[in-house]
Amino acid sequence: MLDFVEAKGETARMRIEHWIEGERTPGRSSRVAPVFNPATGQQSAELLLAEPEDVADAVRSAQQAFVGWSETSVSRRAKVLFAFRELVSASAEELAHLVVAEHGKVFSDALGEVQRGLEVIEFACGIPTLLKGDYSDQVSAGVDTYSFREPLGVVAGITPFNFPVMVPMWMHPVAIACGNSFILKPSERDPSASLLVAELWQRAGLPDGVFSVVNGDKVTVDALLDHPSIAAVSFVGSTPIARYVHERGTRAGKRVQALGGAKNHAVVLPDADVEFAAEHLSAAAFGSAGERCMAISVAVAVGPVADEVVRAVSTRAGAVKVGDGRDASSDMGPVVSRAAQQRIVDLIATAPEQGASVVVDGRDLVVAGREEGFFVGPTVIDGVTTDMDAYQEEIFGPVLSVVRVETVEEALALINSNPYGNGTAIFTSSGEAARRFARGVDVGMIGINVPVPVPMAFYSFGGWKDSLVGDKHVHGMEGVSFYTRAKVVTSRWPAPKAASGASFAFPTSD
Ligand code: NAD
Repeated sequence: MLDFVEAKGETARMRIEHWIEGERTPGRSSRVAPVFNPATGQQSAELLLAEPEDVADAVRSAQQAFVGWSETSVSRRAKVLFAFRELVSASAEELAHLVVAEHGKVFSDALGEVQRGLEVIEFACGIPTLLKGDYSDQVSAGVDTYSFREPLGVVAGITPFNFPVMVPMWMHPVAIACGNSFILKPSERDPSASLLVAELWQRAGLPDGVFSVVNGDKVTVDALLDHPSIAAVSFVGSTPIARYVHERGTRAGKRVQALGGAKNHAVVLPDADVEFAAEHLSAAAFGSAGERCMAISVAVAVGPVADEVVRAVSTRAGAVKVGDGRDASSDMGPVVSRAAQQRIVDLIATAPEQGASVVVDGRDLVVAGREEGFFVGPTVIDGVTTDMDAYQEEIFGPVLSVVRVETVEEALALINSNPYGNGTAIFTSSGEAARRFARGVDVGMIGINVPVPVPMAFYSFGGWKDSLVGDKHVHGMEGVSFYTRAKVVTSRWPAPKAASGASFAFPTSD
């Protein structure tokens, strides 16, 4: 959790509000938190933190809006989704600029996350097809059965800082297309993009109250989890908070899906193209400063290939241009906060103390003109073993640990004994080895010569083990299923005055 500054009154800074009942509002918030530009290290805004009363207002508005929205025809709902898709597409650069300013990632990367969010909206545009039910004629004499799915009501999403556009879009386009009202609690570190998204929904024709944004911290999250009129909660963030949200939300009777943290391994087999693998490993480890839940943070080098992997990755790590995300020549920006920077530097320091060697060291990197920015350079640590802090912690920074093993079986066992199971990859030229790996690994998303295997929106995204609390993944058909519940109707239309044939025996299909 962040330490929130109780400092309302510094009016010179931009103030970020909530979006309730179709407009920006300060609500009844009296507490604020600082928002920073990570590239300069300067505070850029103060964020109002929603109180339980603000959450109650948002829920009331969402409940009222649900009455009309859930009755709106599915084709009319699809039209709003199509209009939203066009507006998000036209606003992609504006959204990306907001992401860069508060998250720090480079502009091209921010545009990429908007694109991946757009793909979920495109998936949700197909909602008339996605919600088609089943029909069975004549299941008994004169009796038919059909099924369909209905929305849940008011649902909420609680999201992390690392994809402020894409991760909320894993949720709200699908939930809203299904006929629900949606309340978003974005990360307190980069909240601004969500308010622009709210305006775009409104311009697309979505009735006020169907999409709301409550900014805030634990107080806000707890109010959402406890509110009796919220039917379901989607969460993405770190594993301890995923567990907390799942426990508290389900105790309050809600449906909860909670995606947690990760430690993603990429195996490099001796038959791999080492230069290809190193290029992709480097992008997967250092892209977005390693702050992706699908970032590769461990390279598992098998047998004689290890020295070559370390050499090739280190060369590339040294060539990464680190700078302000707004500078088009930067490959990688800062990490999100001063605290994250310090934590990453401290974790790197444990590696040589525990017997590993820091081959490329990003700890002392200074970006000219951005001396106060939260930068850490790409770092490669060789000789990491599973008992070291660098292996056990989710570093969530631009740090690649290299673990050396002798066989592919050893690599598989290592990954399967790690508590996380979000993503993994294998670099090889052997189809047989790749297939064996994909079938044997206890991980939700697997790449074969693809280091960041984020599924397209028409598949579902989610990990295994400590990377997921609950059972449903996001978007794709699991998303539609999460935001709806099924009805099955058994129906008979007897001819006038037909003999009823009613019996006290349990009905069968004769
Ligand atoms: P976080 O868990 O600190 O915060 C996530 C959300 O929970 C935020 O909205 C935050 O306000 C809220 N929160 C934080 N502490 C809370 C508390 N004590 N009580 C109630 N709510 C609280 O995560 P983060 O630092 O924003 O994001 C990084 C983490 O998210 C990493 O662990 C990363 O792996 C994970 N992540 C996972 C996925 C995935 O798909 N599995 C995707 C993106 C990020």
